[in-house]
Amino acid sequence: MHEVLAALLRLQELDQHIFRAQAELRRLPAERAQRKAELDRRVQKLADTRTEAQKLRVRIKEFEDNSTQHRQRARKVENEAASARQDMALLVAFQHEIRTLKREISNFEEQGLLLVDQVEALEKDALAQEQALAAEQKSFAEYDANVQAELAAAQARLDELSAERKKRLTGTIPLDALTTYNRILAAREGQALAELDGKACQACFIDVPANVVVRVQRGSELVNCPGCSRILFQRG
Ligand SMILES: [Zn+2]
Repeated sequence: MHEVLAALLRLQELDQHIFRAQAELRRLPAERAQRKAELDRRVQKLADTRTEAQKLRVRIKEFEDNSTQHRQRARKVENEAASARQDMALLVAFQHEIRTLKREISNFEEQGLLLVDQVEALEKDALAQEQALAAEQKSFAEYDANVQAELAAAQARLDELSAERKKRLTGTIPLDALTTYNRILAAREGQALAELDGKACQACFIDVPANVVVRVQRGSELVNCPGCSRILFQRG
């Protein structure tokens, strides 16, 4: 059993690095995806700001067109009023219409001007967003290159460790012991073995009962920590 434990310890040495490399291979893409999503959100926000500005521009154009039409109409009515000087009632009606048209024109112009202010504010905002986004995109590109390099390095490390692990899976380890070890390894995130120091498990720090200490010392079987289930071993 001491021999089996020793073989498992050699395996454990590799497996903690394997787990670390695997964790990197999961963490890095997740982090990258999060940053990319944030970047996409900002791209979308800029597009929305521009769409909003464009919509306002269309409305400003509508006010301008309305103003133009009203002005043309007002000129026409003014001409008609000029040739209707003799007819007081008609003249009053024309003058009334002209006043109404002019009021509406000034109303359109006022509303148009308000929108011009809003569009200018939106366009200023869009420009600021665009500059911030350009900086963010540049920094993301650098970050992305780093992530790709780190991923490649972690993958290379993992391949190397996996190859070494195959070599260390010698006949010394019986299948049932290996199965137990692998199960705990997965459940305990890369640490299937725990050192017993005196009666304290060095992984979960509980004091194990005396009979557990005795069984570990005897070394005729694999003994699990009652606290964390890891396989206990003693140095020496
Ligand atoms: Zn424990």
